[in-house]
Amino acid sequence: MQQVCILGATGSIGESTLDVISRHPDLYSVFALTTNTRVEKLVAQAKICRPKFLVVADPEKYLQAKQLASDAGLDAEILSGPKALAEVAAHTQTDIVMAAIVGAAGLQPTLAAVKSSKRVLLANKESLVMSGELFMQAVRDHNAILLPVDSEHNAIFQSLPLDYQYGDLDSAGISKILLTGSGGPFLRTPMDELNLVTPEQACAHPNWDMGRKISVDSATMMNKGLEYIEARWLFGLQCDDIQVVLHPQSVIHSMVQYRDGSVIAQMGNPDMRTPIAHCLAFPNRIEAGVSPLDFSSLADFTFAQPDFARYPNLRVAIQACKEGQSATTCLNAANEIAVEAFLNSQIEYTDIVRVNEQTLAQIESRPLNEIEHVLALDVEARVIAKNIVNRIS
Ligand code: NDP
Repeated sequence: MQQVCILGATGSIGESTLDVISRHPDLYSVFALTTNTRVEKLVAQAKICRPKFLVVADPEKYLQAKQLASDAGLDAEILSGPKALAEVAAHTQTDIVMAAIVGAAGLQPTLAAVKSSKRVLLANKESLVMSGELFMQAVRDHNAILLPVDSEHNAIFQSLPLDYQYGDLDSAGISKILLTGSGGPFLRTPMDELNLVTPEQACAHPNWDMGRKISVDSATMMNKGLEYIEARWLFGLQCDDIQVVLHPQSVIHSMVQYRDGSVIAQMGNPDMRTPIAHCLAFPNRIEAGVSPLDFSSLADFTFAQPDFARYPNLRVAIQACKEGQSATTCLNAANEIAVEAFLNSQIEYTDIVRVNEQTLAQIESRPLNEIEHVLALDVEARVIAKNIVNRIS
């Protein structure tokens, strides 16, 4: 029986993880659930899966969580504050950590899981965008098992040879990693109407049901840019090894092209329970509750090159990836501030890229040799991005 700690349990990935786990009571039991503020949902989840720990990151919600848990007759220990997230992730009784907190807040607890040599199921791509080199070094130093939940990276992982060695594309006969993306809800919106789109429209992804931040990132294709950076670190790639391919149907989740002309793809209905189940059970396969692909109903299967005029954030992210770690750390911070400002209707959709570009332009590249350097740069970039938002809005 594997004990699972779900960081970000109340989010979209957290819920899907609980769904998969509930199908396999003989294999997995929930050790800890965490949330930021949604304590009612946390307690409702805990009533079903009976974890030993509940963590509420926002200390102001602690008393409410304690009361709700007591009313529900739960005997779970309730902890609060960001440090408690790392404590449950690194706990000796935790076997598997689902890293599904959104944004930079996910970095430290995920790193704590890595440093405790856990099996880490990585959904929080921001960890690698902010600190890829340090993070991957920690994975190697502590013999952690890192498995990619992001559907594209999970697809690449499934399409690589099983004995693929970190960064050695040549020996594996690989010529390209093809990262697919749907293009989001504004694939065909007239360009001169993009400044008018609303947060609700941006969050209405045609194929995937996700949290609000990643939904906006999918609309701008910043998500693909973050995934480009994530793929570079996860698989030890050079930036030019990766090519982004538009595939609006989201049936192929990514591909690996080999030297001999073969292309190996992973396909499936767009449902995160597939990569979650794959990571939970790897190298075995378990039931995920996902309906099988029905090829008779797949009307279209199309591919195209992304247009950087429509998706300038993708261009900015690829450029940042080429510049290095400090650029990607700044970009991640600026983008979180910009997306939040857009979701709060402070800035327009087309301002997101302005905030990102202007923040990057104001910060000089520097070496980031310690995680503290990464966190300090993250704070600095947020201050600059907030000033830019205030100027624009
Ligand atoms: P959601 O917004 O749905 O959920 C985020 C979770 O993180 C919630 O539990 C939230 O708590 C918690 N959280 C937010 N801020 C903090 C904080 N400061 N401290 C502690 N916990 C916090 O996000 P998703 O589930 O969509 O995404 C989670 C991660 O997975 C992201 O990194 C995303 O990029 C990645 N991902 C998501 C995919 C998807 O399909 N959704 C696909 C691939 C990757 P609360 O409920 O209280 O807000």
